[in-house]
Amino acid sequence: MLTAILVMVLLAVVLGAVLGFASIKFKIEGNPMVEKIEATLPQTQCGQCGFAGCKPYAEAVASGQAAPNLCVPGGDNVAKSLAELLGVEFQPVGGAEGAGPKPKMVAFIDENTCIGCTACIKVCPVDAIVGSSKLMHTILINQCTGCELCVPACPVDCITMEPVKTDLAAWKWRYPVFELKKAA
Ligand code: SF4
Ligand code: SF4
Repeated sequence: MLTAILVMVLLAVVLGAVLGFASIKFKIEGNPMVEKIEATLPQTQCGQCGFAGCKPYAEAVASGQAAPNLCVPGGDNVAKSLAELLGVEFQPVGGAEGAGPKPKMVAFIDENTCIGCTACIKVCPVDAIVGSSKLMHTILINQCTGCELCVPACPVDCITMEPVKTDLAAWKWRYPVFELKKAA
């Protein structure tokens, strides 16, 4: 009996050592630029950039397959940080030439229709929905990134996306500021 236990322990130690060695020896070095870009992204995994999540978008930006201004929830701040990281010119989300950024949207629950099934809570990547089973649910608009993931999840279609009204405090001049060069 004691021999069997000793053999088992020895086997475990050897296997552990082999696995430890393998994890160091065959470690796949991540692309540091992908890691830096991914760390800059808001991790909402919402797919509004057109990619399956923040990591695939980070990989596409790092390999030059995607522009650094596609992250809607991250907005111009993330686009600016990524432009600095990549050493490229900053382009606002939606592009200076384009029709401008997609208006910021937040989810809205019609509380009279909500049946409290909690389906929306389960899909929200940023915990912006509060409510409990069989009770009305509501949105924390400051948390909501407007990813729209909860809309298809609602069985009674009581979630809609509402534009966020831009007040003076939130209004931003979108176009590059030209500095008047002093005449030599
Ligand atoms: S409430 Fe809906 S739209 Fe807002 S972040 Fe959550 S899932 Fe996205
Ligand atoms: S999915 Fe719709 S019905 Fe269900 S809790 Fe959310 S808002 Fe209410």
